[in-house]
Amino acid sequence: MKKHILILSAALALAACTNRPEPQLTPDMESFPYMVEEFADLGLLRYRVPDFEHLTVQQKALVYYLNEAALWGRDILFDQNGRYNLRIRRTCEKLYLNYAGDRTTDEWKNFEIYLKRVWFSNGIHHHYAEDKFLPACSREWFAEACAETGIELSDELLSVIFDPAVMAKKVNSADGEDLLLTSACNYYEGLTQAEAEQWYAEHKDTSDEPKWIGLNSKLVKDADGNIIERVYKAEDDGLYREALIHVVDNLEKALAYAENDQQRLVIQKLIDFNRTGDLQTFNEYAIAWVRDLDSRVDFVNGFTEVYGDPLGITGAWEAMTNFKDLEATERTKKMSDNAQWFEDNSPIDPAFKKKECKGVSAKVITAAILAGDCYPSTPIGINLPNANWIRKTYGSKSVTIANLTEAYNQAALGNGFNEEFLLSDTEREYARKYGAHMSDVHVDLHECLGHGSGQLLPGVSKDALREHASTIEECRADLFSLYYMADPKLVELGIAPDAEAYKAQYYQQMMNGALTQLVRVELGKNIEESHMRNRQLIANWVLDHADKTNPEVEIIERDGKHYLRINDYEGVRRLYGELLAIIQRITSTGNYEEGKALVEQYAVRVNPELHAEMIARYQPLHIPPYKGFVNPVYTPVFDREGNITDVLLDYTEGYAAQHLRYSRDYSPLPDINR
Ligand code: ZN
Repeated sequence: MKKHILILSAALALAACTNRPEPQLTPDMESFPYMVEEFADLGLLRYRVPDFEHLTVQQKALVYYLNEAALWGRDILFDQNGRYNLRIRRTCEKLYLNYAGDRTTDEWKNFEIYLKRVWFSNGIHHHYAEDKFLPACSREWFAEACAETGIELSDELLSVIFDPAVMAKKVNSADGEDLLLTSACNYYEGLTQAEAEQWYAEHKDTSDEPKWIGLNSKLVKDADGNIIERVYKAEDDGLYREALIHVVDNLEKALAYAENDQQRLVIQKLIDFNRTGDLQTFNEYAIAWVRDLDSRVDFVNGFTEVYGDPLGITGAWEAMTNFKDLEATERTKKMSDNAQWFEDNSPIDPAFKKKECKGVSAKVITAAILAGDCYPSTPIGINLPNANWIRKTYGSKSVTIANLTEAYNQAALGNGFNEEFLLSDTEREYARKYGAHMSDVHVDLHECLGHGSGQLLPGVSKDALREHASTIEECRADLFSLYYMADPKLVELGIAPDAEAYKAQYYQQMMNGALTQLVRVELGKNIEESHMRNRQLIANWVLDHADKTNPEVEIIERDGKHYLRINDYEGVRRLYGELLAIIQRITSTGNYEEGKALVEQYAVRVNPELHAEMIARYQPLHIPPYKGFVNPVYTPVFDREGNITDVLLDYTEGYAAQHLRYSRDYSPLPDINR
């Protein structure tokens, strides 16, 4: 289960330096070239890998081979996303590399954008919307350009690229249609939905520790009408064996550099699973992985999330290598170690406080490479494994990826957003100086303390708030965080850098909740998503309860534009505390009517004039709604015996160069995979 990034939240997030002492060799945040390029609705960013140079040589070598294992799986996802994707990618790359005609025409530029979009989506369908996107160059130009360049091109392929009706949707989820026959993804061939569902029903593992049947296979109907399960594995005639052989080979090299026995077991089980495709081995691997908590380096590599399969069974291939962000993990540990103090001092009715409060310690990681379904578009958090029985019995690992959040925040600093929407240079300076760090602190307080705080009165059901439960619960966690963000305790614990830092987050939360998040809502519509409702509820309630003569916070108009102004930050904190007490009482007593009234009054409806104004001011900034990443390049240094003595990191590779290199060096699958 991934917490996918809210697509625009990064653009809306305020940002600044984290006040961390910078390691010498890591390029510093101010001068690091985060933004790479923009096209269509996409923006490509670089991310730093801070602290990599402080890993031991053994850890660096481990990261290096895990990265290699990650990159070798790239073709698999292209093929899973659609059976023509590899052919289309390769055809376009050949043209891109060899075309001798005029590269300054619109036709060429439109073709180039198409190829870049194919790389971004790992195929021909939009990575988020799932619809097929069409090239803006003409079919005639493309066919002729291929012919002139000596590239073979079938009519079939041309129509897959250019005909809007052919393979129109990657994953169809429309009720009443055959989801397999109407989806372009490549997890089934020749089967109807009913046939596939029946096959899964017949093969389902009903034991207490079930195997995830279908996680790593494609179902194919052969010429005689038999349904064959083609398992993804490196051995025998396994599907994707050409790629999995290289994944295994690099995992074996990584094995030699494992940090400890538990991690060695994890890697060995994954090697065995990739060889044999045996799902019992996969369960053993997943359990070993959950138990590996002490290693600095960690990774995901394999068939994982199932959103790409219309039936939600087969895993899309993804990989990410990472290592623990020690400083940030220490921060969340400080929070959870002091959980009882926070509970005891919270501004809620003592009857609703937990007598014994345990915080959650979150692990914060630094991503070293992104691949497969994590690349170029990436989640900023991961929560695995997906098998519920393993989560129940052995737990799960939940991580946030700090260096990717940092890249989003830093890239947002230069996009003109703060200039347009923040009241003055004072707020912009808060944002620059404290924004990124305090937004990390907010997420940590929300997750590590907020959700776990408070208790229900005896007999109150946790479902009492029904359809408003998640909005109210998100409010509760946000308010707990916001209330404490301004507490001197945070400075004392070393979590906040100084007594002013919280102001960046207060301004950001109030402005976003009352005004700027509206740019993500279509004109004429109300707010549906529960996190957005939560933010508007808090902001509008606080504005509504501000003092009428000397408001702590208000919306003002200047030259026909509306801005948020905070006159009294301490006063805003007091109001946050009052609302927290109310929200906690509603939760603890399960008061559905009162919860519903709050949501309906403050969270759902939008002010149509402000809504239109926000969109009108946002659009000219041309901030791309979707972001993705370019990976750093890792180069090993060997001694005469062939041992790795160091791994060097380079951030200069461009977007197209990176994909062309991956296609040249890590592309073992045939055009057609059966
Ligand atoms: Zn939450």
